[in-house]
Amino acid sequence: MDVMETRSTITVLVPCYNEQESLPQLFERMDRLIQTSTDLSYTLLFVDDGSTDNTRQLIRNYSDSHSYSEFIFLSRNFGKEKAMYAGIENVYTDGLVIIDADLQDPPELIPEMVKLWRQGYDDVYARRKSRRGESWLKKATSRWYYDILQQVSGIAIQKDTGDFRLLDRKCIDALKRLDESERNSKALFSWIGFKKIEFLYDRDKRAAGKTKWNYLKLIHLAIDGITSFTTLPLKIATWAGSLVSFIAVVYAVVVLIRTLAFGVDVPGYASTLIVVLILGGAQLLSLGIIGEYLGRVFMQTKNRPIYLIEEEKINKND
Ligand code: UDP
Ligand code: MG
Repeated sequence: MDVMETRSTITVLVPCYNEQESLPQLFERMDRLIQTSTDLSYTLLFVDDGSTDNTRQLIRNYSDSHSYSEFIFLSRNFGKEKAMYAGIENVYTDGLVIIDADLQDPPELIPEMVKLWRQGYDDVYARRKSRRGESWLKKATSRWYYDILQQVSGIAIQKDTGDFRLLDRKCIDALKRLDESERNSKALFSWIGFKKIEFLYDRDKRAAGKTKWNYLKLIHLAIDGITSFTTLPLKIATWAGSLVSFIAVVYAVVVLIRTLAFGVDVPGYASTLIVVLILGGAQLLSLGIIGEYLGRVFMQTKNRPIYLIEEEKINKND
């Protein structure tokens, strides 16, 4: 099949943020992989997302002695999403693998992903069989979240999947066109479509260093996922508002008739307070929801570049 012949070069994109502890191990394992590969030409692309430790020096040294290693250093910490976009915009090979610097995604699986790619699949995404080292709460909340997201967005969302995947040129070009500033890769990978296939693996523990995630960031990402997939929360606000207005009108009529028939009755403090509180809460919530979307519009209309590069070593001809 001629698909085989055109699928011969691949870039491994590694976003890094303060990864000095894991990088030496990553270099070693990637080297071993690249040296044993016969029918595939590798490029390593490190995107440093504003590290403040020794990460940049390690990458620079490694790239000096390894011709297949390239790098982009961003001008500050932009977040993994934007760091990945910086990488995606600078891929010149037939395929792209995105992998974490902390070796939670074993690079040794790449050849197996390549096999599937060469069978004609465009997006070979790795799905975790197990999530070792993650708490019960994290697993459960993540499952619920994606179930809901899938329901409300109507787009098939890959569960237990991170950014570890092999993307064909078609997908890379598609992703390059999605230049929105508020990025949610999971949404984007699902949105582009193409021939997808899952690939089961065991996600390892972080090799070294600390995760940059915390619950606050996760909640942020979760809200981001919903607002970038669907405008349903806005509709819910409208429906809830309409329902409450309707009930209010009915209640007003009841109160009016009762007052006319039986005269003014003073007690009613509790019911008044409840209504005021519920309405106030609903209004604030709706405002918040509108604010989330408006914020996205605001960020996008500023039309700023998604990231800025401070230093790079990219070979555009391969
Ligand atoms: N990362 C990044 N920018 C950030 C935070 C993280 O480029 O602001 C990189 C990090 O170096 C790692 C990957 O994103 O290669 C995943 O980060 P982490 O391991 O902290 O997340 P987790 O695996 O816990 O979800
Ligand atoms: Mg990690």
